[in-house]
Amino acid sequence: MGSYTRLQVRRVVKGNGNACAFIFPDQTIGIVDWGTDDRSCIRSLLDDEKPPKVRFVLATHSHADHTMGLLDVLEECVNRGVRPENFFYPAIGQLTLRPSDYLGRAVKYAVDHHIPTHSVSVHDFDPKNPAPPFAIAANPDWDVSILAPPSSSNNRHQIKSHLSNINPGNPTSIVLLFRYVATKATQGRAVLPGDATPAVLKFAADHATRYPDFHIDNDVMIAPHHGSSHNWPKWLTAHVQGVAVISAGANRPSHPSLSVLQLLGPHCRQTTPSSLFCTSYAHQCRTAFAHLASNTTLVREGPCFGDIEIELAPTGAQVTDHDPNGPARRASGYCTQ
Ligand SMILES: [Zn+2]
Ligand SMILES: [Zn+2]
Repeated sequence: MGSYTRLQVRRVVKGNGNACAFIFPDQTIGIVDWGTDDRSCIRSLLDDEKPPKVRFVLATHSHADHTMGLLDVLEECVNRGVRPENFFYPAIGQLTLRPSDYLGRAVKYAVDHHIPTHSVSVHDFDPKNPAPPFAIAANPDWDVSILAPPSSSNNRHQIKSHLSNINPGNPTSIVLLFRYVATKATQGRAVLPGDATPAVLKFAADHATRYPDFHIDNDVMIAPHHGSSHNWPKWLTAHVQGVAVISAGANRPSHPSLSVLQLLGPHCRQTTPSSLFCTSYAHQCRTAFAHLASNTTLVREGPCFGDIEIELAPTGAQVTDHDPNGPARRASGYCTQ
């Protein structure tokens, strides 16, 4: 494994995707969503750290592509005697334990196994003065804080979806900020917004700027909702100063959307060369550029950069691991076109 003076962000694409692990500078682990049903992903993560210490497991929201493997994570930890210290999730309106209610099943398992569970949001009963961002994990040098969702809209969506017997969705997404506390500038910050909607993202951005040491300018941004044009408001681009990761399933026609690729590609190239990383060889890219590629194996649908590992130091971010085909595929994709 690499240096432990840095944060590692591992983006796992296998299975249903949208699984992310933080390996903090002190080697402890934070899980942010686990949408993969490929159990080898959590096994190898826990195998790498000896002994593993899991500070938290967190579900940004209840959609299956973010929660399908959470029960596997908890079971794998408990079976190894590594009980996660906390489980965080936006309040779920119901615990129906339907087969598709992966978050509900994971929360029930956590309760049954004495893992403290916390439904979290930012209380905004005074809309002009919401409760400050709060850290769910912290060391003297760094912390991970929750910037959204606001409790009022979160509750509204939770109750509405409960009454309609559906899973509460993207408007309930937790927005997370990792930062090295000594750095005031862009460097050393990662934003993970789940599938947050523009309203939730706006709340997070505004909320951060209420406090002197918070803002959402970042070196690492994991694109919300797989780069959908709806959930990537144009103003968000200005906050991306380093590596942007779009995670999308292979060859979906709408994710990542063409407009997000066209917006983020040129923006990322202005700051760091080729700092846009897309996990899938995009349908959009294949449609537009396949005819240009001399090597046809590079322009088939499938992983582009695949599983991605990023190291974030107080001075900036660096992508340290990805599918080896990625750079060659760039030449026939919106990353560089
Ligand atoms: Zn979602
Ligand atoms: Zn999603």
